[in-house]
Amino acid sequence: MLIDDNGACYLCPRKCGISRKEGKKGYCGAGADILVARAAPHMWEEPCISGKNGSGAVFFAGCNLHCVYCQNKAISDGNGGKIISIERLSEIFLELQEKKVYNINLVTPTHYAVQIREAILKARERGLNIPIVYNCGGYESIETVRALSDCVDIWMPDFKYISSETATRYSNCPDYFEQAAAALDEMIAVTGSKGGTVFAGQDGLVSGDTEDRIMLRGVIVRHMLLPGHIGESKRVLRFLHDRYGNEIYISIMSQYTPMPHILKDDRFKELHAGTDMKEYERLVDFAVKIGIENAFIQEGETAGESFIPAFDGEGV
Ligand code: SF4
Repeated sequence: MLIDDNGACYLCPRKCGISRKEGKKGYCGAGADILVARAAPHMWEEPCISGKNGSGAVFFAGCNLHCVYCQNKAISDGNGGKIISIERLSEIFLELQEKKVYNINLVTPTHYAVQIREAILKARERGLNIPIVYNCGGYESIETVRALSDCVDIWMPDFKYISSETATRYSNCPDYFEQAAAALDEMIAVTGSKGGTVFAGQDGLVSGDTEDRIMLRGVIVRHMLLPGHIGESKRVLRFLHDRYGNEIYISIMSQYTPMPHILKDDRFKELHAGTDMKEYERLVDFAVKIGIENAFIQEGETAGESFIPAFDGEGV
């Protein structure tokens, strides 16, 4: 049950059970309306997602996690963005496709899963034929993953924590690990049932060239190193590799940026520093040592607020 007959929302493991269609807002901050803050080609995803033309990123306002260090806080509270209809959302998908992006990249989509699915189906009837990327925080319910399995081609969840203590401290989410692992199991199962990972060349041709490949279907799990948390990160990578091996791609991210709101919060002094790149290199070495082969790593200056897009309503 995702949304019951009275409109009560159980879309994610928070299971708020409040009626959003009556205007109430759940933990995610989302009510009845779809709020989108930006819809534009985005160049800063993994190479197999952004390629040379970009990924068609649609940034939704609201979030079911509200991590204390959130990089998109301007919209994650559910206050930013513009209200749009399902019809307009389907048009946005088609407009992005016209811009030659490789995919539609739904950023923080969970709380709009029902409306998004309807918009995708409408857009497909009108010619949308590029892959759909579900780019989420990882805290998903199995039922929602199943409900979207006919629409989503690439699952791109975060896998943020393994310890309940860290998940509680930073995301008020003691059962993050259990829920994220169960959802990831399901994402892999539905992808496997469609034939598993598929790549194509940037010109649409099937290509074996690793530099030049665009993902058409698959699972990419993202994990971002938090300052001082290399131990937690190693446990996450070990878990992912032991459980899923080469069925998934793992993106090991160094882009943590201490945002102004966290720098003012003395309860989280450990998050005031940026990423220690030596620590990040140690994490990457660890990944190699335990045998992770399908991985993306970040090089150079990928941290910084300048890499956070402007949530100015572009393309909405
Ligand atoms: S999607 Fe939002 S309202 Fe629905 S259960 Fe999750 S946090 Fe609650």
